[in-house]
Amino acid sequence: MAVQPIRLFGDPVLRTPAEPVRDFDKELRKLVADLTETMLDAPGSGLAAPQIGVGLRVFTYNVDDVVGHLINPRLDLSEEEQFGPEGCLSIPGFSFDCRRALRVVAKGYNMHGDPVTLEGSELLARCIQHETDHLDGVLFVDRLDREARKAALRAIRETEWGNAGPPEVRVSPHATLGRAL
Ligand SMILES: [Zn+2]
Repeated sequence: MAVQPIRLFGDPVLRTPAEPVRDFDKELRKLVADLTETMLDAPGSGLAAPQIGVGLRVFTYNVDDVVGHLINPRLDLSEEEQFGPEGCLSIPGFSFDCRRALRVVAKGYNMHGDPVTLEGSELLARCIQHETDHLDGVLFVDRLDREARKAALRAIRETEWGNAGPPEVRVSPHATLGRAL
C-alpha cells in the first residue's frame, strides 16, 4: 500500500471517462488499498481512481467515520435536492456551494466482486455523486450555476497549479492493462 500523488485540475485524466472494472483481481485490491490510504492521508471524504491516474470505475469514501469503496457504481437519485459546500482533492483549497440530490441509492460491487448496495443522504449522498462524476470525467465545478462556475474557474486559474501548462506524462503505478492514463 502506498499514498499516491493526487492529480490536479487541468490534468486530462480527470476529464477522461473511466472504464468499468472487469477483473476483480489482486491488482484491483491494491488499487482500492492505495485509494483508501491516499484519501485518508489527504485527508478527504472521497477519492476516485482517475484522481490517482487510473481510468477504472472505482471510488473510496470516508464519511462519518465509515470508510468504504464502490466499483462500477450505478446511481438512483432522489428528486429532493440539497445545496451546500463541496470541495475536491483535485481542486485543493476551494469550496463552492453545489446542488446535489439529497439521497442516493448506489449499486455496484466490492473488490471481491460481490454485489453491494450503498444508501446515503446528505454528506454521503453528496460524496457518492461527486465521486461517480469523477468516473465520468465530470468535476463538481461543472455543476455550479453559470455565474458561480465562471467565478470558480477564474479563482482556480489564478492558482499556480490551475494555470499550469500541459501536464507531464506520468506512468501509473498500477498495471491496468492499458487502461491507465
Ligand atoms: Zn473530487
